[in-house]
Amino acid sequence: MESEMQERIASVRRRIAQAAQRAGRSETDITLIGVSKTKPAALVNEALACGITDIGENRVQELLEKLPALEGKPRVHLIGHLQTNKVKQVIGKTTLIHSVDSLKLAKEISRQSLEAGMVSDVLLQVNIGRDENKFGFLAEELPEALQEIALLAGIRVRGLMTVPPIEQDSAKTRAHFQSLYKVFIDIPQIYDNIKMEYLSMGMSGDFEIAVEEGANLVRVGSAIFGSRA
Ligand SMILES: *Cc1c(COP(=O)(O)O)cnc(C)c1O
Repeated sequence: MESEMQERIASVRRRIAQAAQRAGRSETDITLIGVSKTKPAALVNEALACGITDIGENRVQELLEKLPALEGKPRVHLIGHLQTNKVKQVIGKTTLIHSVDSLKLAKEISRQSLEAGMVSDVLLQVNIGRDENKFGFLAEELPEALQEIALLAGIRVRGLMTVPPIEQDSAKTRAHFQSLYKVFIDIPQIYDNIKMEYLSMGMSGDFEIAVEEGANLVRVGSAIFGSRA
């Protein structure tokens, strides 16, 4: 008999596969990130045992506390806002930082990475809904920011991420994802350390729409781990 965790993961994977199929895409191009924030390491290990390969956390402290208890070396994604004074603590601990939302943060990640003798892979967070309460570059700020980021030897930009505003109307959510996809494909591939490979969008409530609109990283929390307090 399948455990509840197995069933939930299988259901999410099935829905990703169906959305991919509707869009004429291959499900193997889409990586499911299990967002384990607020959930104990034991539950994360259960998900890892069920085949989850990538986990996402939104807070540095929680990430650092949980990491040593995780079994099987998952890829680790930092998806929440990162304060510059915490950068040093996460360098070398993440596979991908999704939430680079300012030039100042990019510079600090680069500086600390070089100091640690490495280069960090990141995504740039785009505030696609122009939401005053959300972090991220505005789309029109990107060309200039990219020129500056191109000079940062300690950082490699692998793509874009967004958290769109919560909409009642799923057509609006889709429009946000379409806008980010357009930004993603329009960025000129002219800088050595900036390649548009990953598009991180879609959460429990909207990952199917995101997959239909081109996401290849989806960040799914409650649909895998249950609702949060
Ligand atoms: C919490 C969180 C998610 C996952 O949210 P769910 O709705 O539980 O799937 C995805 N992305 C970010 C940035 C988050 O903070």
